[in-house]
Amino acid sequence: MWHHVTMRVHNFGAGPCALPLEVLEEVRDEFPEYGETGMTVIEMSHRSADYEAIHSEAKERARRVSGAPDDFEILFLQGGATLQFSMVPLNLLSEGEAAGYVESGSWGRKALSDAKMLGGYSAWSGEASGYTTMPAPDEIEVRPGTRYLHVTSNETIGGIRMVDFPDLGVPLVADMSSDYLARPIDWRLYDVVYGGVQKNLAPAGMALVFIRKSAVADRSHLGSYLRYSTHVEGDSLANTPPMFQVYLMGKVLRHLEERGGVEGLQKRSEEKSSLVYDAIAASDGFYRSPVDPAVRSHTNVVWRLPTEELEAKFVAEANERGLVGLKGHRSVGGIRASIYAATEMPSVEALVSFMAEFAARNRP
Ligand SMILES: *Cc1c(COP(=O)(O)O)cnc(C)c1O
Repeated sequence: MWHHVTMRVHNFGAGPCALPLEVLEEVRDEFPEYGETGMTVIEMSHRSADYEAIHSEAKERARRVSGAPDDFEILFLQGGATLQFSMVPLNLLSEGEAAGYVESGSWGRKALSDAKMLGGYSAWSGEASGYTTMPAPDEIEVRPGTRYLHVTSNETIGGIRMVDFPDLGVPLVADMSSDYLARPIDWRLYDVVYGGVQKNLAPAGMALVFIRKSAVADRSHLGSYLRYSTHVEGDSLANTPPMFQVYLMGKVLRHLEERGGVEGLQKRSEEKSSLVYDAIAASDGFYRSPVDPAVRSHTNVVWRLPTEELEAKFVAEANERGLVGLKGHRSVGGIRASIYAATEMPSVEALVSFMAEFAARNRP
């Protein structure tokens, strides 16, 4: 049992994952009484003044940190990023319109699979390369009648990131779940930016959605929760919102602002991931990165060892040292270190020193 803060593991989980300790301690202090209310946040009415203050502060911080201009609405929606795979095509596509999808990995493919029956098509696929690289803008095929192009900013499983977002004359819709607010967003390009919050920002169960006001269309044929307009009109309070997620995200965003906002996180993500890539490069081929170096992810670093047996041993011995969550996704195997916002440099240093020691002991 990890029952004391000094016993916290080095968490490299892909999501859910580490959250900032300062924030967790603050939340603990606000349980079971939030301020003078005599109850916790998750027990209070979502129509109360106390909750409304939490809600609007989280929203203001999301706007400030992201730099989203006023012509974007900010929504807190249930169903994670996955519900957005459906909501985006249901709300953005009209009769006869199509949407291009960049299939850069597992998540891009899932997004397309939920849009196919509504007009989604593959505008590029990384299948031939085993999803180890991203397309150059001129490799993406945008057909006439395309309403939007969907991209995944960071493929969490494959460990690759989109470096240049394509400006091809159609608005972009981006799933940014796994590097959310870890780099600046060029808002001109987008109609929708969304992501599940459970990697960089909050506990699972919510999507943070930015939608251009002009993209919010009348969709009265859809059930109310499925329409963006419902949530715009209700300020994400049309029904009971995911209050704990909103509350916690507000605190994580404050923590992020105090540490240099998006630019600060971008710099830390680059530094932390570089340390692991350097350790891979310094291993004389014992560790191998399968991904195109030009697009390697700053948040999910994937690599292989000489054999699957050694990979299993690596994960088991890392676990014994409190380095957890390193097993690669079941679909690709190998090792994956997810280094989100709250996995700090000392954890990464512990990982790379274990990597060097393990390689020295197990080199064939
Ligand atoms: C984690 C993740 C998702 C899934 O998010 P849910 O909230 O579980 O639906 C979608 N896209 C990407 C890129 C992810 O990393």
